[in-house]
Order: sequence, then structure tokens, then C-alpha cells
Amino acid sequence: MRLSDLPFRVGTTSYIIPDDILPNARYLAGKVRDIQLVLFELDDQSNLPDKAAIDELNAIGRQNDLTYTVHLPLDLRLADKGEGTHISLVKARRVIESTLDLNPRAYVVHLEGKEERNVTDPAVLSRWREQAVQSLLAVSGYCGDIKRLAVENLENYPVDFNDAVIRQSGCSCCIDIGHLWLDGHDPIPYLKDRLDQAIIMHLHGIGKRDHQSLHLISEEKIDSLFRILLDNNYTGVLTLEIFSESDLTGSLKAVEGSLSRLRG
Ligand SMILES: [Zn+2]
Repeated sequence: MRLSDLPFRVGTTSYIIPDDILPNARYLAGKVRDIQLVLFELDDQSNLPDKAAIDELNAIGRQNDLTYTVHLPLDLRLADKGEGTHISLVKARRVIESTLDLNPRAYVVHLEGKEERNVTDPAVLSRWREQAVQSLLAVSGYCGDIKRLAVENLENYPVDFNDAVIRQSGCSCCIDIGHLWLDGHDPIPYLKDRLDQAIIMHLHGIGKRDHQSLHLISEEKIDSLFRILLDNNYTGVLTLEIFSESDLTGSLKAVEGSLSRLRG
């Protein structure tokens, strides 16, 4: 089975070769079916694509059956009272406005909750949830559709931390399988109740750290994941969230190996 025959799009990041986004897109065209743009914006440096770059990315996409997703640069949170708009929302707006013409399949979002993640006080948690929903609603105004926002599960957070916020806001989710493995969770039961909301999945191997080649994961674990995606006719994006040519080669080999075991 070839990647182009799958109901879902196997993609990777825009930082596989050590170069800008456009050279990466040219390099990845034909190898994957989606590219997650890794964007940053510092005081004196930014890689937000300009109009010419967007036009060329769109041309590469059209010619190669390639779509784009965008990872927002900062973990979202609302400003505390009286501070005006939090910098994470300001940056989210800039990134979304400069990439909307790419018609991205999703904007991947982290919710900032470091102080709240281990709290048991229901009042603190419900305030955090309310603020998280408000920040998602604000950002959905920038991209026009809350379903396009995909909230990602993060390592070292309780696995169900975002569930209520996703439900209440009506946004989508990005399930990071690598983060689940990293924290010792089995992704299969986790996926059961959440696959319907998932439009993006992140996949990476765990070696000395995460975000490494998928071939570091056992065949059995990879097969059980692909089986559930195929059985449930998952039609979103599966991003190999890695950052080098060798990790991409190893990961694609692991994906193809699994598909040939499952489908022949
Ligand atoms: Zn991820």
C-alpha cells in the first residue's frame, strides 16, 4: 500500500533539511502529503512567509497533492485582568493572518496550564477551563472556524487535561501519540473516545528524547496504531513530527513496513 492510497495524509514538518520553509517544501513535495509549518517570530528574526512565499507554497501544494498545517508558536493563554491582550494571542493572530491564504487544514494549539495542571481545587480548574475556552474563541475569530483549531495533548500534563475545554469550545484536537508513549500511556484506549474530534495526529519515536525516528518504536505498537486509524477510516493528517532527513527516512520506512504488514 502506498502513502497516497491511505485515507489520511502522512506529513512531516517544514524543518527536515536545515533551510527555510520553501526549500523544505520543494524537498518534501512527492515524499509526504502534508507539511506542518514550524513558525517562529523573535524580535529581530522571523520566518513568517510573505505573499510571494505563500503563492509558491500554494503552487507546490497544487502540483503535488500537498496540504499545509500550521503550528502556532506560543502556548495560548488569556492575559490576567487589566493586562490587555496576551502576547500569545497577538502572535497567534499574526501567524494566522499571514498563513490564511494557504488554506491550512488546521492550526495546532497548545494551551498553557503549567500552574494548573496538577491542581485539584475545582474552582481553580474551572477558572482555567473558562479562560482556555475564551482564548480559543478569540483565536477562532482570526481563522474563521473553531473546528480548524486543534488542541494538542502535551507531555507531563494529565492525559484528560484538555477534554472539557475541547468539548465546551467545540474545537478539534491534535493527538500527539509520541507524548502519550513518552508519559507511559497506551494510545489505543485514549484514541477510542477522541478520534472523532481529531484532525491532526503527531507521531514520533522516543530514543534519548522524543521527536526522533519512528523506527525506535516497536512494530507491534506502530501496527496497533495504524490498525485503529484504518479501521476507523481516519481522514485527517498524521504528521511525522521530526526534524531531520535521517529521522524522516527511518520514520517513513517504519510507516511503510507497518502498512505492508497490515495490508500487504
Ligand atoms: Zn506534537
